[in-house]
Amino acid sequence: FAPWSDPQAKPYIRFENVTKRFGDFTAVNNLSLSIYEREFFALLGASGCGKSTLLRMLAGFEEPTSGKILLDGQDLRGIPPYRRPVNMMFQSYALFPHMSVEKNIAFGLKQEGMSKADIDRRVAEMLKLVKLERFASRKPHQLSGGQRQRVALARSVAKRPKVLLLDEPLGALDKKLREETQFELMDLQQELGLTFVVVTHDQEEAMTMADRIAIMDKGEVMQVATPAEIYEAPNSRFVAGFVGNVNLFEGSVAERTENSARITGGSGAQILVENAGEAAKGNDVAFAIRPEKIRISSRKPQDAVNALEGEVYDIAYLGDMTVYYVKLDDGQIVRASMLNAARIVDDPLTWSDRAWISFRPDAGVVLTR
Ligand code: ATP
Repeated sequence: FAPWSDPQAKPYIRFENVTKRFGDFTAVNNLSLSIYEREFFALLGASGCGKSTLLRMLAGFEEPTSGKILLDGQDLRGIPPYRRPVNMMFQSYALFPHMSVEKNIAFGLKQEGMSKADIDRRVAEMLKLVKLERFASRKPHQLSGGQRQRVALARSVAKRPKVLLLDEPLGALDKKLREETQFELMDLQQELGLTFVVVTHDQEEAMTMADRIAIMDKGEVMQVATPAEIYEAPNSRFVAGFVGNVNLFEGSVAERTENSARITGGSGAQILVENAGEAAKGNDVAFAIRPEKIRISSRKPQDAVNALEGEVYDIAYLGDMTVYYVKLDDGQIVRASMLNAARIVDDPLTWSDRAWISFRPDAGVVLTR
């Protein structure tokens, strides 16, 4: 499933140069974005980056100041929320407290004028979908947080929208329940064949659930890519730093050949990289490398192309891995992580030891912005 890599595929949802201003504040700035049918798409960004505003414009609660939003080729301007094939699920589940689970799910269907027999059938189907058959006659206060969340989900898909919008859907759940619910959401999306657009500020959540992620900052999309691409090939310092941990070696390109480049840092340290991309000689760049791509050893590695010396500054044991912080001689602190399963048990490195870090020329990416 990768319609975005097929140049023939037609986007299902299309934002075209969308800008939204509140007074003289620009919440969304000339943003263009395509989402495909049946995609699980995540908008990820810090608080205030404009992700909810984008979702609200798609739902019809806000109109863009300029630009267009198309759904299956149709311009949505002027179409009220209830006439869009889009439904929104909110973080605060907003269930009716005096109504049973059944009645909560049936509510929207009744309003649409569906017959009683059809409503009963649909409600039963929805209860089964979210595995709450046995809880049909309970009131929301007689349910756990996770169960309430599933009622809200059932209610928001009961009308069979084409697109489900979820604004921080798991925000109110504790960590363990969140993780379980992430998989439930993914199953549900598959089963129903809907397009999901989820807003979150939780990178792990986005990485787990989404087919693709748009990383947003200050009303703009910084990068749209699959979770693996975002992690392995971030396109900017911002994206590299936003998702996962990263080490950035700042410097300028001293030499450039067809694929490789030599980068000289401020302190004179040299780094040789492959796949230097757009970086041209003289450019100020950052070499971005993830902690697990860095080796650490007590002696200078014989065959390493890139090796830098420093001292062990801190060691953090995290259960599945151990993180070493090495303070290089130029003062930069580098984070190197090692899976404990792969670790040599009698590793001699400890606090304040001299240590070498090393990495392969293709272990990171060169960033020009
Ligand atoms: P959060 O995760 O905190 O919800 P967000 O990325 O979803 O953040 P938005 O809710 O889209 O952010 O808001 C983006 C910016 O627009 C914020 O700075 C917010 O204060 C501003 N904003 C949103 N709605 C309005 C409004 N109705 N009037 C004025 N400013 C608004």
